[in-house]
Amino acid sequence: MKTEETLEHQWKAKRILNNALMQKRISHAYLFEGPSGTGKLACALAFAKAIFCEQPNEGEACNQCAQCRKFENGNQQDLRTIAPEGQSIKIDQIRQLQRDLSYRKTTSGRMVYIIEQAEKMTIQAANSLLKFLEEPVSPVVALLITSNVQAVLPTIRSRTMNVPFTPLSPELMLEQLTMEGASPTLARAAVQLSSGIDGARAILEKNGFAEIRTLVIQLGKESITTYTTAMLTAAQKLFKGEYADQIELVLQLLLLWFKDMTQFQAGRQENLVFIDQLEWISAHAFSRSFAGWVSCMEHILEADKRIKANVTPQLSIEQLLVKLQEG
Ligand SMILES: [Zn+2]
Repeated sequence: MKTEETLEHQWKAKRILNNALMQKRISHAYLFEGPSGTGKLACALAFAKAIFCEQPNEGEACNQCAQCRKFENGNQQDLRTIAPEGQSIKIDQIRQLQRDLSYRKTTSGRMVYIIEQAEKMTIQAANSLLKFLEEPVSPVVALLITSNVQAVLPTIRSRTMNVPFTPLSPELMLEQLTMEGASPTLARAAVQLSSGIDGARAILEKNGFAEIRTLVIQLGKESITTYTTAMLTAAQKLFKGEYADQIELVLQLLLLWFKDMTQFQAGRQENLVFIDQLEWISAHAFSRSFAGWVSCMEHILEADKRIKANVTPQLSIEQLLVKLQEG
């Protein structure tokens, strides 16, 4: 996904920053917060560039002036970026930053610093930064970035202006993951199983996700037949080897399979998760009523509940498959 598209999606954050630039009322500290993969860093960099720009237009950098060129060439000396060293951002890093900023004579009138993964500041680092935020050296702008705002000290949150980033839609996540090289059919399922792009990535990296998906398709197809043996054979595969601890994932995928049947019946083909199975789905989606598919989904949720209540997975799944065949 292009950065511009991500940023377009983040109209709330954009509006806050554009207004600040256009009204020349830039706060001394901002907290960019929201799920990862939502363009926070790209947006912070664009904002910093526009702050330095000699002739910003409607809150955007002109991309032509000397300052913009410096920025693009990575020579903007008035910009500092801090990121965790190892597991955390340490007090020495914050002290170094403060020294840098207080001795530096700016060429552009303002200095900007970006702190990535701001939630990883140690308590000492955060307290040190806090003093700095409370007594701002006037032409300094702090851009703090975090995917975990709950882990940022409340005192820091209260001294920074909140710039919220919203989760990407499944469509944008799908586009991003595909661009990163994920298989589109697998990514399509992964984004439905997760609320954020990191979660979707983790699912894609799971061992055997592709095989599990194939197995679910097999189970789904067998479930409308009466060949119990074939069904149980497929189910047996589940309990062999590495899939045994992935039962929850299997059930979630199976739920999406039956949801696909209802989506097809409702004429929403474009929403299908198992889009590569369109041919089979279009031939069989009307073999049961809408309510029939919905009760299949209910059986799955019921099985999930039983497993969570410590009924053995194997027993729960076998009972589930019988129920699915009964419709
Ligand atoms: Zn410019």
